[in-house]
Amino acid sequence: MSKVILVMIDALGFESAWDRCGYLGHLVEIKKGAAYRVRGELPAQSRPMYETVLTGLPASVHGICTNAYTGASTSSNLFSIAKAHKKTTAAAAYKWISELYNQTSAYNERTDRFQLSGGRGDIDQGIFYHDDGYPDSHLYADGDFLARTYRPDFLLIHPMNVDYMGHKAGKGSREYEHAAECTMMYIAWYLDAWREMGYDVLVTADHGMDALGIHYGDTPLQREVPLFVFSDRVQPGNYTDHTISQLLVAPLACALMELPPAPGMQAPFPTIKEAEE
Ligand SMILES: [Zn+2]
Repeated sequence: MSKVILVMIDALGFESAWDRCGYLGHLVEIKKGAAYRVRGELPAQSRPMYETVLTGLPASVHGICTNAYTGASTSSNLFSIAKAHKKTTAAAAYKWISELYNQTSAYNERTDRFQLSGGRGDIDQGIFYHDDGYPDSHLYADGDFLARTYRPDFLLIHPMNVDYMGHKAGKGSREYEHAAECTMMYIAWYLDAWREMGYDVLVTADHGMDALGIHYGDTPLQREVPLFVFSDRVQPGNYTDHTISQLLVAPLACALMELPPAPGMQAPFPTIKEAEE
């Protein structure tokens, strides 16, 4: 039985993920990881796609169809499924993750930034940020702190700098591509340590970004995102010559944690091996 760290990089499109893949690309090359080209769901927008990545459901089913939605998730998600099976959860993430999964009111920066004592919602320990420019360097350190201190069964790490620079300067700008390089480099810094702690690590994104600094619609730049998988349970290799559905990310995480998929989730991941008895 494995624990899972899900790194969901806000607005890292597939193309830039590979242009800046660095150490993660190396691990795929030497068959120590798997890589996929994911066709994201629509709308290519943050709050709906956070819910899609974490529930395995499209927006028309989970009902969060715009960033303007400020309520809590009403669907089974990786946090609630883990909690229902007596597992522990944590998140280092943007405030919207707290609003979706750990509180019933709007995020308050005075009371909701650090949620470390449990009992509020389906995230046992959370460190949340509310400034889109919160440095990825600090965000990954927050996630690593949660991993080392609490050893959660499921940990979400959700950096925002790629999205922040994308809206300022657009995909293809030096600013966006540098933010993509940095976020991949931070993952490389922690990845081996997380694997040694017993974590399977998934790296993906909610949506991409186009050259105008926009993401919402149906173009490859806005929709296509990466999925890197570092797990002994998934056949290593580069599978990016075709796309797979974004709806497969949540059931993959369930399978790696040996949790039953929620109703409505898609069939098992194509390259996963059976769990050993
Ligand atoms: Zn954005």
